[in-house]
Amino acid sequence: MIFEIAGRKIGGGNFTLIAGPCAVESEGQILSIAQAVKSAGADFLRGGAFKPRTSPYDFQGLGLEGLELLELAREKTGLPFVTEIISEAHADIFAQKADIIQIGARNMQNFALLRQVGELNKPVLIKRGLSATLGELLMSAEYLAASGAEKIILCERGIRTFEPSTRSTLDLSAVPALREKSRLPVFVDPSHAAGRADLVAPLALAAAACGADGLLIEVHDRPECALCDGAQALKPDAFADLAGRAARVREACRG
Ligand code: PEP
Ligand code: MN
Repeated sequence: MIFEIAGRKIGGGNFTLIAGPCAVESEGQILSIAQAVKSAGADFLRGGAFKPRTSPYDFQGLGLEGLELLELAREKTGLPFVTEIISEAHADIFAQKADIIQIGARNMQNFALLRQVGELNKPVLIKRGLSATLGELLMSAEYLAASGAEKIILCERGIRTFEPSTRSTLDLSAVPALREKSRLPVFVDPSHAAGRADLVAPLALAAAACGADGLLIEVHDRPECALCDGAQALKPDAFADLAGRAARVREACRG
């Protein structure tokens, strides 16, 4: 399946790069990272404005101001953006502002949210839940489709296992297995799977070799100061290097 989002072709042999910080933190931060990932070849900017944090005392995102900063970054760089929705109450504002609405792992089975987002008929990137089977991920995508979404991207982002050396365990078998069951494009997010920057490039290259249609990579210009997920963020130069290598791997492994 191939479709277009903001003039970019997704699926059908195209390889799409989504990159940016975990969370939008300030105007300076998002503009400088947006510029850097664009120069490195990213097709979409990512950044959370509403963050689903495990602790209620952690940074929860800039909210509406974050969405406006993403719009500003789009205006300055031309990069469309992906951002996560965490509440049905925000549906209208996301419909107006976002190019792709992300359903995060924690909300993969929030069926009311899925229905509401589906009704917007906007492009959606849906992540696999932390302990969801591929069948359950596909049923959640079905909720989106049944309520009206036509452009749906599936995203493997690691699942919870007994292994503590990574944040989650990246299930790369998801890529060919989903391909067999569904026509939807399949992306991989090695950043949230690894939880540590040193593993992001090898996992991303492996995902490209498996035939992923795209990658979602967290990038921060100062990971040590990031308000969210700094440990897994690549610096812009490391992302630029990875972008080139991933495209070559994808090409070499094309069937
Ligand atoms: C994110 O993309 O910032 C995020 C919270 O991801 P996940 O839902 O995969 O944990
Ligand atoms: Mn994150």
